[in-house]
Amino acid sequence: MATYGPKTLAFVRGEGCWLITKDDQRYLDCGSGIAVNVLGHAHPKLVAALTEQAGKLWHTSNLYEIEGQETLAAKLVATTFADVVFFCNSGAEACEGAIKTARRYHYVNGAPDRHRIITFEGAFHGRTLATLSAAGNPKHLDGFGPEMPGFDHVPFGDVAAVEAALTDETAAIMVEPVQGEGGVRVLPSDVLTKLRELCDDNGVLLILDEVQTGVGRTGHLFAHQASDVWPDIMAVAKGLGGGFPIGAVLATNEAAKGMTAGTHGSTFGGNPLATAVAGTVLDIVSAPDFLQSVKDKALRFKQGLAALKDTHPTLVEDVRGTGLLLGLKLTCEPADLVKAALNEHLLLVGAADNTVRILPPLNVEDGDISEALSRLDRALKSLST
Ligand SMILES: *Cc1c(COP(=O)(O)O)cnc(C)c1O
Repeated sequence: MATYGPKTLAFVRGEGCWLITKDDQRYLDCGSGIAVNVLGHAHPKLVAALTEQAGKLWHTSNLYEIEGQETLAAKLVATTFADVVFFCNSGAEACEGAIKTARRYHYVNGAPDRHRIITFEGAFHGRTLATLSAAGNPKHLDGFGPEMPGFDHVPFGDVAAVEAALTDETAAIMVEPVQGEGGVRVLPSDVLTKLRELCDDNGVLLILDEVQTGVGRTGHLFAHQASDVWPDIMAVAKGLGGGFPIGAVLATNEAAKGMTAGTHGSTFGGNPLATAVAGTVLDIVSAPDFLQSVKDKALRFKQGLAALKDTHPTLVEDVRGTGLLLGLKLTCEPADLVKAALNEHLLLVGAADNTVRILPPLNVEDGDISEALSRLDRALKSLST
């Protein structure tokens, strides 16, 4: 189908932060397949994990215990607030699973009317019918029939609006710690704290969508771990498999108590190939030294972007983001900068709110950061002349 529009570029292999076309043109990857390739391309340890598992067992379904899935779940539980994990294949599925978990929790608590979820304008939770309704973006919903009921949308970060939207039918508040697709908009930490308080005071669950912010992207294994706020349920995907499709719903025992045998399922979710790779990703990314290096690189990158803002004040309005989830808010069309960067063989990703995203692999080398900044400088120059 024509859902992605025309494409002009194809890659045949990758090495670290670089993607290479069949005629050997090299592009510096500051998109990471939209925050997916956290360890770059063809990382030897991930290649080994995948090929070793591929020689043993690919798939059994969840009718049987999957050893790699148990191991990966144990790692996620050990490194987060969660007690239990459900595996799926994508971010949208993880968000759907999170929504279902929250609704079931209230159902088994004897409050079946508590099914509504408060979400934020500018959010992105995926492209299934429920997650489209959750985000409420009219551009994405247009033409797909009636919206799924049960979502209340409030302005981004507006605590008073959340308070006003809370009713005795509210099951959960669902929020991204940083809106990625929405334009690299960081949720202020005092807002997150306030949301947690509102949840606690009203018997409402807090769902964090860390599909884009998770797995080291912000310099913490999960973005909320920068604060002392913990969710009840969390959706994870994108970076988790380093490029192999996998998603996960994490929850406390309490929040997941409605998710009993037969309530949910997935044919592929958590299959041996996906969990072998994701287990290796998590081992590497969760190491304290690795997360510290993400913070260091992010600081260097952001300082470079701030300098570019000074050099190009008429084009760059703002430098946004945290960790290696960075963005430039522009006065021009983001697509124009994405195209100009492409001319410099630099890959960026557009976002809403006139923003381009800069999402390098988390193991990006210092030399590649400098290279990305000078290519970005040339791209911006080409736009200002
Ligand atoms: C990308 C994204 C999703 C959807 O993930 P898919 O794997 O494309 O279904 C959901 N939430 C957030 C925050 C995302 O960035």
